[in-house]
Amino acid sequence: MTAILRSEPAPELPVEGSAAPDEARAPRRPSLSPSRAADFKTCPLLYRFRTIDRLPERKSLAAVRGTLVHAVLERLYDLPPAARTVEAAQELLAPAWADLREEQGVAELFETAQDDAAESDASAPESVEAWLSSAGKLVEKYFTLEDPTRIQPHGREELVEVTLPDGLLLRGYVDRLDVAPNGALRVVDYKTGGMPREAFEAKALFQMKFYALVLWRTRGVVAAQLKLLYLKDGDALTYAPDEAELVRFERTLQAIWAAIERAVATGDFRPNKTRLCDWCDHQALCPSFGGTPPPFPAAAAAAAGWQTSLPVVELD
Ligand code: SF4
Repeated sequence: MTAILRSEPAPELPVEGSAAPDEARAPRRPSLSPSRAADFKTCPLLYRFRTIDRLPERKSLAAVRGTLVHAVLERLYDLPPAARTVEAAQELLAPAWADLREEQGVAELFETAQDDAAESDASAPESVEAWLSSAGKLVEKYFTLEDPTRIQPHGREELVEVTLPDGLLLRGYVDRLDVAPNGALRVVDYKTGGMPREAFEAKALFQMKFYALVLWRTRGVVAAQLKLLYLKDGDALTYAPDEAELVRFERTLQAIWAAIERAVATGDFRPNKTRLCDWCDHQALCPSFGGTPPPFPAAAAAAAGWQTSLPVVELD
């Protein structure tokens, strides 16, 4: 088993508050991340479009706000402990936004929203200032959940990855990793959306168990606490996994991966129509909405390291 733990910057259908997408940080070979595993569980065809075809998707102001808030909370811990105040965090918003708006599609996204606002779309923000102010409120809420002057993170936006004995590469980005003097691990994830209802807590914890499994496999320590901070509601969800649970979770991931490999080998990625389709960018190509997916990109899949025996289809 090989393992890497190093710093690097840090996705599902729209869940406000996830950090930047994985796509920009492609692994060396096919791997499983919490978001891609969730994609396949939600809809195999969505997984294909995102991971194999790598079709572009629109950014949303909610997702960009999530990225902005994550950036501020990451930078907050660059400051000396006593300087980590609400005011200091608010001052970090402008420079973080200045960096983010340089990213492809971000400034344009806001221009589109302004056009929508001009057409009286009630969901469009009134101005960049109003949008930034909403991000500032989320940052402020963070301080009701934790006291950053008393926390010294071990890692932020930390890439955690492990190759399991069967060859499955697991990788993901942890918002914050805390290590207590006695070696106890706490995994913290910031969510700018609302706290899930009880029935959806297991889904929320899927990502955290993924990180806990990787950390256990790399460090030999079961995380003492998995903590999800919901900044919109100012609430937290905490969970303490145990070793037997992580063993079962590992089998679950291996089963998901086996299903993905079968789908890649045959090119058979079925659509799974749910209410989440309302947010899917790929309805025009989806059979559930009368569309036709493009031919399976066997050449691209093989080049990316996937095992597929499908014929290569030349496109115009
Ligand atoms: S529209 Fe729905 S069923 Fe079709 S690919 Fe997207 S998520 Fe899957």
